Amino acid sequence: MLTVSHGCHNLNSGFRLFAGMTVGFFIGLLPHSPGNVRRFRLATRTDLDRAVDVKSAGQPAAPEPTASPLAQAGHNRDRIVPGRAPARAADEESAHVWGFRDSAFQVLPNGSVRLTGSRYPLSGHELPDLLPWTRKVLGVDFAHDDGQASSYPPDVPPPREHPAFLREVRALLGERSISTDPIVRLRHGHGHTLEEMYAIKHERLRRVPDLVVYPEEEQDVSALVDAAVRHDVCLVPYGGGTNVTEALRCPLDEERTIVAVDMSRLDRILWIDPTNLMACIQAGAVGRHIQTQLAEYGFTLGHEPDSVEFSTLGGWVATYASGMKKNRYGNIEELVLDVHVVTPRGALTRAAVAPRESVGVDPRRWVFGSEGTLGIVSRAIVKIYSLPAVQRYDALLFPTFEAGLAFLYELMRQGALPASVRLVDNDQFQMSQTLRPQARGWSLLRRRAEKLYVTRLRGFDPERMAACTLLYEGTRAEVAAQEASVRRIARRHGALHAGEDAGRRGYWLTFSIAYLRDFAMNIYILGESLETSVPWSEALALCTNVKRRMADEHAARVLPGKPLVSCRVTQIYQTGVCIYFYIAFYHKGVERPAQVFAELERCARDEILRSGGSLSHHHGVGKLRQGFLPRIMSPAALEWAASVKRAVDPTNVFGIGNQAADGGAAEVAS
Ligand SMILES: Cc1cc2nc3c(=O)[nH]c(=O)nc-3n(C[C@H](O)[C@H](O)[C@H](O)COP(=O)(O)OP(=O)(O)OC[C@H]3O[C@@H](n4cnc5c(N)ncnc54)[C@H](O)[C@@H]3O)c2cc1C
Repeated sequence: MLTVSHGCHNLNSGFRLFAGMTVGFFIGLLPHSPGNVRRFRLATRTDLDRAVDVKSAGQPAAPEPTASPLAQAGHNRDRIVPGRAPARAADEESAHVWGFRDSAFQVLPNGSVRLTGSRYPLSGHELPDLLPWTRKVLGVDFAHDDGQASSYPPDVPPPREHPAFLREVRALLGERSISTDPIVRLRHGHGHTLEEMYAIKHERLRRVPDLVVYPEEEQDVSALVDAAVRHDVCLVPYGGGTNVTEALRCPLDEERTIVAVDMSRLDRILWIDPTNLMACIQAGAVGRHIQTQLAEYGFTLGHEPDSVEFSTLGGWVATYASGMKKNRYGNIEELVLDVHVVTPRGALTRAAVAPRESVGVDPRRWVFGSEGTLGIVSRAIVKIYSLPAVQRYDALLFPTFEAGLAFLYELMRQGALPASVRLVDNDQFQMSQTLRPQARGWSLLRRRAEKLYVTRLRGFDPERMAACTLLYEGTRAEVAAQEASVRRIARRHGALHAGEDAGRRGYWLTFSIAYLRDFAMNIYILGESLETSVPWSEALALCTNVKRRMADEHAARVLPGKPLVSCRVTQIYQTGVCIYFYIAFYHKGVERPAQVFAELERCARDEILRSGGSLSHHHGVGKLRQGFLPRIMSPAALEWAASVKRAVDPTNVFGIGNQAADGGAAEVAS
């Protein structure tokens, strides 16, 4: 919502008719419906209150703040040992598309679109504008009922059996911890790249794990690795299966039995140390459970990737993940103090954890970004924070993306960064407008009025304007200071204040948008996001170059219509930003469309590297980008990485093959 409030110079200045009125023109705008909220939610002040309730109900809770915890030093007496996160039947995950089973976009007979279920703020609302806008940006007048039926599940290749290994694992883990089910094996053989998701629906995967095992204790993991070494079996650690780098795709030339080690039963928070603000968490714990469980005791990890509903702590470490609130809490490498890793050459473990150490070359750091190639992360000790006393959303409109970026730069220079700041370009802003339920009556009038205000009176061009969502977390004073800075700087860059509701809905829209890719695939549209990080000075040029290159490549292949190439800035650093691109095109009549998409994606990555961007900010390398490694690493650097692999895993038990610098044909002719 766009609120004409006291905080914003631009809207306050001299337009009395609107004073005090709340108007609805912004990202993900929805009628307020208190009952219609995400079931897992961001931890709020209420969680702090609930921690007190939990305590009075006889469960462990944080110690009384009045007793100095330092008096008990040396005994860790006040460690909390939470129970297991409760499993909810309603939270079942889809195997062949992103997300929870109860949620999926579907086309209605009248051409509107609806997100099923009631899990998200967007769920259940009819969205009449999404498909018309999609036709406009893709330049194709497709019919809403012209779908491409999925043939999921595809044929699953037969397993390469290893009876002796299976016998040993059966004795070790028991029957309930082993699966040979083809659909289960299939799911463990891919992540969520467009190519993989297209393959399981319209083609097939030629190699998937032959067996899936579910260790329940850390010693199971050690025993599995030991057995794999002796039986010459290939192990693949599996977290939430959400990676977007083909990190779980099995190498076609792997002759050995491939065993996926699903970490989902190693999902406990082993302890919370409320004095030293640390927690020890098993690697298979899923983000949303970590959030809700820590919140019960008044804490947060603060790591919130867009995939937080399904990705795991072990996966975050193995992929060098980054969350939306990194400005306040840090990226995963800043949050993790220690890791316990089981490798073929023994466990990587330390006796104690310290706030910071100088201990020479630290093997624990090799594990970040190792993408399942060195061993299995079984647990980690992480920093935790008290739940913020204040959590507030906000949103701003800018006349252009350039103005928005200049605002972000000044915000960074002034050191006033809220926990999360995201800037979307005009295409994504327009798309967010289409993800609004139909307005009727008074709200329709209001929407029109505000649109008139923004475009006619304030002179914002609807084809150029950009939007920014913000999330403040901290003490009352911290948030107040940040808000004041944001408003002052925003004013200087010509922003309009769009208000708290718009900010909240824009932030939460992230979780619903994740469902769009699989929906689009049903109607001959292939789309995917890719990210990079780039110094401030190159950011705008990089965005322009990638957009132009995609248009050229699309035209060169004579693909239907025109491509959608849209970008947003999601993370801010002193030295630069993280930029996400969305690339999509219509493909009916195009042969081997997923391969065409892969070519376009490689061209985009090539352009990113030429424009001074990184190979990846947080998604990682996997197999998707491994061919680019020689462009960013010297031969000596690549040899160092290979030497570490040889030292830790001499027989390549962890043979998933990610980051093989000579692998794949990702090099694009320059
Ligand atoms: C819709 C969507 C949104 C996303 N948003 C973000 C985002 O905001 N930020 C971000 O950083 N990423 C994001 N990602 C990418 C993905 O969620 C991350 O890469 C995530 O860290 C992967 O975790 P996972 O548990 O799903 O790992 P998986 O996909 O299961 O595995 C990824 C790799 O890590 C290895 N691995 C997994 N667990 C372990 C373990 N315990 N020990 C050793 N190796 C292991 C696997 O072998 C594999 O090589 C997003 C993906 C999607 C589809």
